Amino acid sequence: MLKLKLHWQILIAFAAAIFYGVFLTEYVHYVSWMGDVFLKGLKMVIIPLILSSIISGVTNIGNAENLGRLGIKTMAYYLSTSMFAIITGLFFVNIFQPGVGADLGFTKSVEGLSTAKESFGDTLMNIIPTNIFESFANAEMLSIIFFAILFGFFITRVDDKPKTFLTELFNGAFDVMMKITMLVIKFTPLGILGIVAKVIAEQAGDSQALLDIVGRLGLYMLTVLIALFVHSVITLPAIVKIIGRSNPVLHVKAMTTPLLTAFSTSSSSATLPLTMSAVEENSGVSNKISSFTLPLGATVNMDGTALYECVAAMFIAQAYGLEMGVVNQIIVVITALLASIGAAGIPMAGLVMISIVLTSVGLPLEGVGLILSVDRILDMCRTTVNVWSDSCGAVIIAKSEGEELKV
Ligand code: ASP
Repeated sequence: MLKLKLHWQILIAFAAAIFYGVFLTEYVHYVSWMGDVFLKGLKMVIIPLILSSIISGVTNIGNAENLGRLGIKTMAYYLSTSMFAIITGLFFVNIFQPGVGADLGFTKSVEGLSTAKESFGDTLMNIIPTNIFESFANAEMLSIIFFAILFGFFITRVDDKPKTFLTELFNGAFDVMMKITMLVIKFTPLGILGIVAKVIAEQAGDSQALLDIVGRLGLYMLTVLIALFVHSVITLPAIVKIIGRSNPVLHVKAMTTPLLTAFSTSSSSATLPLTMSAVEENSGVSNKISSFTLPLGATVNMDGTALYECVAAMFIAQAYGLEMGVVNQIIVVITALLASIGAAGIPMAGLVMISIVLTSVGLPLEGVGLILSVDRILDMCRTTVNVWSDSCGAVIIAKSEGEELKV
């Protein structure tokens, strides 16, 4: 029987989903359940996968010196690429000025904005879990990562007998979780068919209104999309090539499945199991590096979101006729970075976090209503860039640690 490669299956599923969503809108429930099952499968594996992967990875890293070096490299990569992304966005939003003269008449209200306002300081505080089981239950990624790093590190600090036992236990648990992840990955094409058909069907019912909105927000969307394109197609590959001494074209091929999944799900966290599997199996990064960098990256490193926060805030400022001098633009850059770090890897997280940026330069939170209608499509694109940047980071750091990769 003809066996197509997974990414071809996904692309076919994509095309089928668009067809289904447009022409069979009323029957979308026949396929949308497959998307729900797929997302449940991904969510099922995330926590045990992260836990076993980080613990086994950190145990293999071994000592505090290596761990510290890896931590510094990872954070340096995350912060610098997010800054590059923001500056790219700032550049294009100043050139195109999409908000100047924008129509303020179609503002919608958004829930949850005021709650996000105070939450950045809390986010930092909450990294330390008070009850780790509660963190598991609530999928609080940063707390789980923090605990897992500590646990893994101190496994290397106990007597030989429990050390060997625990190391083998978590290595074994990780292998099992990877096998379950592989099983879920097999269903990616069907999952994507379900998810994308549903999204398209939801939009299709309202297609005239949508076209209208897209027309009015066209320049804003274009600014975000061009900046995302430049960052992901020029800046990141250049870093992979020059600093990582790897082949970005081979790497993007290796990443097709997680990138398409990120695009369809708008969630870095849900995509994480696929990202880990692709970075390890296809790009050849060791579990030691990927298990440390990727789960952290899925929550902390969001280049696409950082860029989007900056462009969106500037767009809103322009629409409200606020003069954005150098100082205000610097504030936007810094708060966009903080907002992207604080945003969770779930759909629309970036939209909610934008309140941090708006408040810092004195813009009304209602401004978010302006960009709400086109957030879904931009979320799909920025999430893809977020995942792409995480995977490039894993490659670069692996290379810098002297690993032989397949890309
Ligand atoms: N959906 C994005 C992600 O999961 C976050 C965002 O809303 O910008 O990476």
